[in-house]
Amino acid sequence: MSKLCSCTKCKKKKQVNEFYLRANGKPREICKSCWSSINKEYYIENSDKIRTNRSKYYSENKEEESLKMKKYYESNKESFLEYSAKRRATKRNSCPSWLSPKHRSEIKSLYKMAKNITEKTGNIHHVDHIVPLTNEFVCGLHVPWNLQILPASENLSKHNKFIVEDMVCSSEKSEVLKGIK
Ligand SMILES: [Zn+2]
Repeated sequence: MSKLCSCTKCKKKKQVNEFYLRANGKPREICKSCWSSINKEYYIENSDKIRTNRSKYYSENKEEESLKMKKYYESNKESFLEYSAKRRATKRNSCPSWLSPKHRSEIKSLYKMAKNITEKTGNIHHVDHIVPLTNEFVCGLHVPWNLQILPASENLSKHNKFIVEDMVCSSEKSEVLKGIK
């Protein structure tokens, strides 16, 4: 049981259970942690391609996929509803009451534009909050000047990784946060 295998990538000797097994039951040459870092690198380098392939696959298998999604949704309904309610509440709380109807329609048209770009290019685009709505240090606003359209891959890789030092100066920061232009 305690037989050691050496990984050809990190050159370390590890227990057999640190390796994924081949179909024939023999361990692979590369250990689990090296595998996952290889996969991660591959994913980061090819995330656009992977996403395009995925959306292509989706459009070619629309009916099956939407059925699958429906089933998945039905069996995970509560967590979906909870997530979207939370998301809506965050947006609502971040959407200041003094926002003019013009600003509100600007926000709507940005979401529409992202949808149009997605349909035209086949590359999923999201509306992104420049200053995230939820972050450890800052909370952005759901206002037109805090929104930008980004390809999904960029948006997701950004996550909530927002560094306060990114803002040029603190007065500018408070302007963005208060939404005063
Ligand atoms: Zn390794």
